[in-house]
Amino acid sequence: MQSLDIPLISVPGILPKRIALLKKECAIETVGDLLQYYPFRYVDRTRFYTIKEINEELPYIQLIGKIEQVRLIGQKQKQRLSVLLRDKTGTIELVWFQGIKYIQDRLKPGADFIVFGKPSSFNGAWNMAHPELELYSEEKAARASKLQPVYSGTEAMKRARLDSKAISLLIQQVLRWCEGNIPETLPASIRNMLSLIPLHQAFVDIHNPKSAEELSKAEIRLKFEELFFLQLRLIQSNRINKQAIKGFPFTKIGEAFNSFYANQLPFELTNAQKRVIKEIRSDVAKPSQMNRLLQGDVGSGKTIVAFMSMLMAIDNGFQACLMAPTEILAQQHFAGLQPFAEAIGLKIALLTGSVKKKARKPIHEELLSGELHILVGTHALLEDKVAFHNLGLVVIDEQHRFGVAQRARMWAKNTLPPHVLIMSATPIPRTLAMTLYGDLDISVIDELPPGRKPIQTRHIYDKDRIGMFNFIQQQIELGRQIYIVYPLIEESEQLDYKNLVDGFDHLSAVFPPPKYHLSIVHGRLSAEDKDYEMQRFIKKQTQIMVATTVIEVGVNVPNASVMVIESAERFGLSQLHQLRGRVGRGADQSYCILMTGFKLSKDARTRLETMVETNDGFKIAEVDLRLRGPGDLQGTQQSGTMDLRIADISRDSKLLIYCRELASKVLESDPELNMEEHQPIRLKLHALQQKHLNWGRIS
Ligand code: ADP
Ligand code: MG
Repeated sequence: MQSLDIPLISVPGILPKRIALLKKECAIETVGDLLQYYPFRYVDRTRFYTIKEINEELPYIQLIGKIEQVRLIGQKQKQRLSVLLRDKTGTIELVWFQGIKYIQDRLKPGADFIVFGKPSSFNGAWNMAHPELELYSEEKAARASKLQPVYSGTEAMKRARLDSKAISLLIQQVLRWCEGNIPETLPASIRNMLSLIPLHQAFVDIHNPKSAEELSKAEIRLKFEELFFLQLRLIQSNRINKQAIKGFPFTKIGEAFNSFYANQLPFELTNAQKRVIKEIRSDVAKPSQMNRLLQGDVGSGKTIVAFMSMLMAIDNGFQACLMAPTEILAQQHFAGLQPFAEAIGLKIALLTGSVKKKARKPIHEELLSGELHILVGTHALLEDKVAFHNLGLVVIDEQHRFGVAQRARMWAKNTLPPHVLIMSATPIPRTLAMTLYGDLDISVIDELPPGRKPIQTRHIYDKDRIGMFNFIQQQIELGRQIYIVYPLIEESEQLDYKNLVDGFDHLSAVFPPPKYHLSIVHGRLSAEDKDYEMQRFIKKQTQIMVATTVIEVGVNVPNASVMVIESAERFGLSQLHQLRGRVGRGADQSYCILMTGFKLSKDARTRLETMVETNDGFKIAEVDLRLRGPGDLQGTQQSGTMDLRIADISRDSKLLIYCRELASKVLESDPELNMEEHQPIRLKLHALQQKHLNWGRIS
């Protein structure tokens, strides 16, 4: 066994209690887990400051000075210990509220002390609360001259005295124990080419850097380690999937596709749509399963691409299905596709949770007999009762709403797995897509159909609400319709619900009947009521739709030209972008109005400014990634690939791209990693693959 895989239990001298705690709180079980528990920041102890140098900006600093004055101030319960520290340039007050006795015993007036803490100012004088305090000696001053690691920890760890300092000591102990026994994972050729330090050295230095330069070299090596092996793993599993997972080859383009293309297609395809259809076409023609992610901004025309892919399946004697995350979306897809399908003589049906039992029976039968060509629906399609005669293509819309396990169930609906096309309107930056979906192929529609007027976005403060009302009134006069969306993050949040209802009441008073009519849709309504309200809006019986984010995905009412988002600061960027995408679907100029109060966090401001600045979903996704980090992006938690401890795919995107290129070069030259110099790579990759076995098959 390699030393990194050895359980901590086997390392002599670690308390079993601590081992249990590390496992419970941080999932740390092996030597490798612990060594990869990297400091989240470092405290600069490489230099001493003078008191005169202190300013507001400084983080933790260290000073050297003499103790001048020791005073106990205040009554018993609220006592504080005040100590004056003086160096050649001035004085600073050191204050303790707790552990006073302990500190008092250690204070030696007149002696030099090393003091470490965060300065702050009060009434124009500097002070430092609860600093670390050490009697000065040259030896100590030298030992302190380094970047001191700071480790995060949970409350339970702190209670058990496993604080940052204790973790640091533990890691040092383990490092001493495996001295010289951490195997190198990269061949010398790669290390030399990139001037990477040995892995063992990197572990030592990251936990105990003597200088900023040493730290930076260790960081680069460890980031490289994560990204390079992640890419190797993804590229290899993609290759293996392609070879191993057989699929049905759709060899020909036939009657359905050709007659639709020639006679029914209502518009000229954009170049991006054409390119993507070609990519899909070449994929499904092969005898292995297609697993393709189709990315395209809201309104870029993914549906027609999906439909034409379905026609490829049908032309080869297969059935196709389209699965949407919500009832409303499924209905819309069905309503949109039905005329296309029927115009070329294909049979299409809708299956959702609310389709009655009686109506389901013929659908089940026709699916099984093969009479039904296309089935559109929701999660209901996953049920075992839904069996196909010969399913060849599964299209999944808005993929992040479906779990990996659910997708796997669709695989099982034919003897060989059907081809899978996943459509996502949440654009993902290229670097993230590479890591997240490294084992999917990706197609991108990066062009909107011609003639679209870019949506104009404005940020308005709540106090200017009257102006917003005037504006939507004008739009209604022009015959347009309006969405007003309220946050309802948790459907159960009482307060949000109240805001929504209050908002609705207020609007009803400003826009009263008989001239105006309002719809309201939220998560507490039954599916039937939701649908009834939606239909009234679609049929233009109401001018304003007051809703929660249930309308976020896919709803298509081309006549709606204004999207008002209430408490916009509470929405994430990708959600704001999705909501905005509900307008701008018709010929009219459309608007998005972001309503907020005055008090906004820095991040909230950045989100709002980004929305006002750009309509480009990919740019928005880049900002989102930067603000939130990849762990928070939709769909990333379940992917199982984001096992990154030190690399950051947003900040380290250049290194990531480099690693991807290098990884694919290595695998191209030596697919099985048989070459002598690739043996260390092979060993590490093998260990990683064992860990990720469960994820290889699906996605
Ligand atoms: P999304 O990618 O968001 O799912 P849709 O497929 O719903 O987008 O397309 C948005 C609208 O654009 C639809 O009304 C669709 O008919 C229209 N559309 C799609 N492709 C084109 C095109 N090439 N030219 C003109 N309109 C198009
Ligand atoms: Mg869509």
